[in-house]
Amino acid sequence: GYRKGGYHAVRPGDQFAAGRYVAQRKLGWGNFSTVWLAFDVQSQRYVALKIQKSAPEFAQAALHEIEFLSEITKRDPSNCKCIIQLVDHFKHAGPNGQHICLVFELLGDSLLKLVQYNRYKGIGLDRVKRICKSILVGLDYLHNELGIIHSDLKLENVLLVSTIDPSKDPVRSGLKPNLERPEGNPNGEAALNAIEKKLKMRARRVLAKLAEKKKSAVESSRSERSLDGIDLTCKIVDFGNACWADKQFTDFIQTRQYRAPEIILGAGYSFSVDMWSFACIAFELATGEMLFTPKEGHGYSEDEDHLALMMELLGKMPKKIATMGTRSKEYFDRHGDLKRIRRLKLSSIERVLVDKYKISESDAREFARFLCPLLDFAPEKRPTALDCLKHPWLRYNEDGPLNNKDAKNIDLAQSTGSITSGDCTNIDLT
Ligand code: ADP
Ligand code: MG
Repeated sequence: GYRKGGYHAVRPGDQFAAGRYVAQRKLGWGNFSTVWLAFDVQSQRYVALKIQKSAPEFAQAALHEIEFLSEITKRDPSNCKCIIQLVDHFKHAGPNGQHICLVFELLGDSLLKLVQYNRYKGIGLDRVKRICKSILVGLDYLHNELGIIHSDLKLENVLLVSTIDPSKDPVRSGLKPNLERPEGNPNGEAALNAIEKKLKMRARRVLAKLAEKKKSAVESSRSERSLDGIDLTCKIVDFGNACWADKQFTDFIQTRQYRAPEIILGAGYSFSVDMWSFACIAFELATGEMLFTPKEGHGYSEDEDHLALMMELLGKMPKKIATMGTRSKEYFDRHGDLKRIRRLKLSSIERVLVDKYKISESDAREFARFLCPLLDFAPEKRPTALDCLKHPWLRYNEDGPLNNKDAKNIDLAQSTGSITSGDCTNIDLT
């Protein structure tokens, strides 16, 4: 992490771009970067500052991301296409090297956090529909207008436009930014005393909040009011792995669980790989669990298990498709059967939704009708983002108020609990 070529250590109050941006607290991190809440002194608003690791391969990836994001932002001046907007970028020299920094509009929590807040139970189909619409608007823009394949769609890479509970976020409720420079020596006694004092104060606040939470949990475990703050629009982020459809960089893409079959088989790909991942996301939002979680087993690989799970749920892969890829022979025999996993436990998305996740028969049928075409083994048969936006599953119930059934599905006691997101993650001693 924090060594030559790696992350840049930041303290609240640190300045960037000749004093324009002042770091406030850490928002998140990935394999390539740390992302900080920062105050933009020039425009007097908060932004997200992504500070890339400094080694050449990370710098290269950041330049690559800037190329895509500049195009994305330039062609969407009204900022309504559900894709993160790049505000600025610059270089920052630090003890670990030169870091490329990207400045973004500030967004809220990721869909992964949303599912976690809800204790992995699924967030209710009306909410799933709203989020799906946002993602599809973004994908339609990327695919049709720009010719870009995202190639790494997953819950972590879709962020809510509003926070889970804006009233609990001091920054959003108008608190003044911290513009004080940090102490000179971060390990000096005075600095450590200051940290100790801060931690004690925070601990007291967290404990007070916890007591408050316990009290209100007893009074009422569910409060519908707090959901009003979530309008559930969201935006697609992280273009570190994106490519142009007509200029691809690698044939191995996507995060395992969201990976399309043609990638595993080495059969080439296009925009429809994003549609596969999109279906995985929609299922996960509705159920709280990933659609496919392949594992290596005795005598078979993770890849082969993945293909077997797909076929158990979606039916047998047509022989022509199964044998078409450069890696097909590793998994399939010449009859189009898996070599090492011979017995498949056949099911269907609809059955799983009803039996395992207790979704009603009629809801499950309609949802499965939306999902299954997106999970077609033949990539060219999958609907486009625009096709999906016109699908009846998304069109009825348009922007109507959340109904009672839906409100019951989400565990509000959890979704309002911002102790972990609001307090503990603030404590950053790096
Ligand atoms: P990486 O390429 O290192 O994975 P990401 O661009 O995915 O970096 O960002 C890492 C994390 O930082 C995200 O998962 C999210 O939690 C947070 N983050 C990124 N961009 C923003 C933003 N614009 N607003 C708020 N949080 C953000
Ligand atoms: Mg990421």
